[in-house]
Amino acid sequence: MNYSLAIHGGAGAIRRRDNVPARAALARSLDAGYETLKQGGSSLDAVVAAVAVLEDSGLFNAGRGSVQTGDARYELDAAVMDGATLRAGAVACVSRIRNPVLAARAVMEHSPHVLLAGAGAERFARHQGLRMISSSYFVKAKHKTPHGTVGAVALDQRGNLAAATSTGGVSGKLPGRVGDSPLIGQGLYVDNAGGAAGATGVGEEIIRAGGSLLIVEAIRGGRSPQEACEQAVRRLNALADVEHRDIGEIAREWLARSLP
Ligand code: ASP
Repeated sequence: MNYSLAIHGGAGAIRRRDNVPARAALARSLDAGYETLKQGGSSLDAVVAAVAVLEDSGLFNAGRGSVQTGDARYELDAAVMDGATLRAGAVACVSRIRNPVLAARAVMEHSPHVLLAGAGAERFARHQGLRMISSSYFVKAKHKTPHGTVGAVALDQRGNLAAATSTGGVSGKLPGRVGDSPLIGQGLYVDNAGGAAGATGVGEEIIRAGGSLLIVEAIRGGRSPQEACEQAVRRLNALADVEHRDIGEIAREWLARSLP
């Protein structure tokens, strides 16, 4: 059985010249996820491993490298989804959890809920034994914007799909703002019977356009992943003030099984 993994580090190009560390982090992330799949691990294990590497790198707008809110705090969002069972978990507006993607998985596996936010999510994560941090953990990127939100989709050897997304949100956001990333169906959606999709871009526009569920449903309805993503980007552009040329969407469907 073949397996497959795709990751992204947010919208926008990473130029080779000045971004060697970011590219190295992406390579480490791919290695972590790919090794998991190769050993026969689940797609869920793979996407979580891949995203956790990027959260820890401090080079992307997720985990340690997250951007600040308008009042110079950090409010992180993350989500995971399992395409075999349609189970999902997410956290929003958390600032004390080292790896929000692990907390999202814990919400899915160890709570009756899909989304926990703020202090409640942090208390839950602590009770789950996850590593907690203080605000000094974050990389303060005063003069430099970190690369984008991170995400991963994977197909494992048993033919199951999964996806994960993690972000610090948009820079200078109002405290309490929640974007698309931790919302199931928006920042990501996975269904073995359709495909897996993850989004990055301006969360408000992604939510208004209908998000990742539309992509997976279009694939289920017979469109190719390429067509489904193009359709979603057209909807986003119709809503945006300016045409985005750097919107990133990743989608994988059953065809991915034919990739090495
Ligand atoms: N979609 C994320 C958000 O709006 C940001 C991003 O993808 O860069 O929170």
